[in-house]
Amino acid sequence: MINTLLIANRGEIACRIMRTARELGMTTVAVHSDIDHQAQHVLQADLAIGLGGAKPADSYLLMDRILAAAHASGAQAIHPGYGFLSENADFARACEAHGLIFVGPPASAIDAMGSKSAAKSLMEQANVPLVPGYHGEAQDLQAFLDAAAAIGYPVLLKATAGGGGKGMKIVESAAAMAEAFASAQREAQSAFGDARMLVEKYLLQPRHVEVQVFCDQQGNGIYLHERDCSIQRRHQKVVEEAPAPGLPPELRRAMGAAAVKAAQAIGYVGAGTVEFLLDARGEFFFMEMNTRLQVEHPVTEAITGQDLVAWQLRIAQGEQLPLTQQQVPLRGHAIEVRLYAEDTDNDFLPASGTLKLYREPAGGAGRRVDSGVVEGDVVSPFYDPMIAKLIAWGETREEARLSLLNMLRETVVAGVQTNLSFLSRILAHPAFARAEVDTGFIPRHAEQLLPAAEPLDDRFWHTAAKAWLLARPVRSAATAATAGPWAELNSWRAGLPARSRVHLRCADLDRSFAAVDVSGCSYDPATRTLLLTDGQQRCRYPLLVGGQVLYLQWANTWQRIEPFDPIAEVEHSQQHAGGLQAPMNGSVVRVMVEPGQQVEAGAVLLVLEAMKMEHSIRAAEAGRVKAVFCSEGELIADGTLLVEMEDAP
Ligand code: ADP
Repeated sequence: MINTLLIANRGEIACRIMRTARELGMTTVAVHSDIDHQAQHVLQADLAIGLGGAKPADSYLLMDRILAAAHASGAQAIHPGYGFLSENADFARACEAHGLIFVGPPASAIDAMGSKSAAKSLMEQANVPLVPGYHGEAQDLQAFLDAAAAIGYPVLLKATAGGGGKGMKIVESAAAMAEAFASAQREAQSAFGDARMLVEKYLLQPRHVEVQVFCDQQGNGIYLHERDCSIQRRHQKVVEEAPAPGLPPELRRAMGAAAVKAAQAIGYVGAGTVEFLLDARGEFFFMEMNTRLQVEHPVTEAITGQDLVAWQLRIAQGEQLPLTQQQVPLRGHAIEVRLYAEDTDNDFLPASGTLKLYREPAGGAGRRVDSGVVEGDVVSPFYDPMIAKLIAWGETREEARLSLLNMLRETVVAGVQTNLSFLSRILAHPAFARAEVDTGFIPRHAEQLLPAAEPLDDRFWHTAAKAWLLARPVRSAATAATAGPWAELNSWRAGLPARSRVHLRCADLDRSFAAVDVSGCSYDPATRTLLLTDGQQRCRYPLLVGGQVLYLQWANTWQRIEPFDPIAEVEHSQQHAGGLQAPMNGSVVRVMVEPGQQVEAGAVLLVLEAMKMEHSIRAAEAGRVKAVFCSEGELIADGTLLVEMEDAP
């Protein structure tokens, strides 16, 4: 019996596992690195034990400390989640040696699938179809050239110890082999400490279809249907769905049976995933088996109505599989997207930073969000940059797709670069809507999925200006309450529609507005909605206030809008030009200098009044005033030349 469960992981998967463990009445124990001491998985656990360090090697990968934590907390079992120690056979063995249940397969099964080459040999013996290729012992260039010539180019080199797409290289011709081989070996050596390679026929635009299998300790094995995870960047999944669209039932059964056969060939126990490539003719080939819970398991849970973590925990305690193959439901369709902190415009490189603003979509029927962060948390460069998983279920694929698009629209992240709008563009793409998915999807549609930033048009800027006037943060509750409208800086005029000058910055662009009319428009902070009326037209826009910044949803993207002080900007930027221009419409309150006068850096030259505030225009450097083009009391227009300076003689 497991009364206390230690979760040797972090982030969303640790939180996910704890949720089920709690439902099963277990006490939950978290372990954490130093920088994670306030992380959600720590706060949600009944007990938390520090491991030290920040880097995985100094924390989540320290087997001895984790085992000690298990003993100290009285845990009977360890769930490894995914990543970290989840596919480490030594850790599974160490758990057993310490009398702890490792929630996963036996160490021997992890070993069997740990090397892609060994796994392929095993599958070959079990008559599971393989991608044509070479996975032998010989590791010299000639062996690979011969193998590639036999299977035909293009071929794919893979690290036998590989994972996460590392150490993989496509080779188009024999001429390119030597260099690619050496480079893939180097990459594999540095990523896995093991340079061994295999080579496979590189299938053109196959689908990645994987089968969820489950086996119990009594020798029963079943499959819980399949997932299509073809939408990938850098050979890594970003969108997953279940079931695989358009898969004929007989193919589903054939792939399911092959997957169960693969699992049983290695004496598998627990949850596992057998990954296949499926070609356009409906032929499928074994790729590898992941001996753990997958990131994308929620889509399987959604279509089967089962809790896979509960299954894992029950089976680990010796219970039998709760369903027979015939009893496994398949209802509706589910799609998951992985929200990553990454720079989509820069080859999807991981990003990090503080989640200054973080809003998850609202809950609701068929909606699920798995995450392990809250606003204010740091996405650290030490761990996987996935922030959350958004999952939508519907009776049909289209229903799930539209629901997930809505969830993405409701999601807000600021402070860290993410793939949020990239995910929306994938889901909204007509080819995705038509289920034309294969592993070439992202490169094929890159132009639409990764468009150059659209210039923000006038309509955007006018909406932003109105949003600012209606929703901008109040400076302080006390001043607002006592001083009333008179203390406001927005040109409020008694009995007249609110009109004001506004200076806004968005996407590195600045815009100033002479007069903004917000009559008939409103902002509702409760629903975070901006309502604009323009003649007969009424438009609603999602709008959020965060600190001194607004976030306006425009064309499916959250635009960050902040104010800027044009005069301060002038002080910084325009002074070197020799002439000082009025940054805005206003009036000259005072002229402090005369032509010929020497001034020090920082001296006030003029005082302008605009936006009911005085702004000093100062000299950036010491110099001499050459000419003054304005006089006190004069009304000046934006861009008028006010003072000309020359260097001191
Ligand atoms: P890793 O373990 O590094 O994730 P996999 O072997 O699981 O690597 O492959 C990752 C992805 O690479 C697959 O989902 C697929 O998109 C692509 N891929 C792998 N093998 C082939 C192949 N032989 N032909 C075409 N694409 C492949």
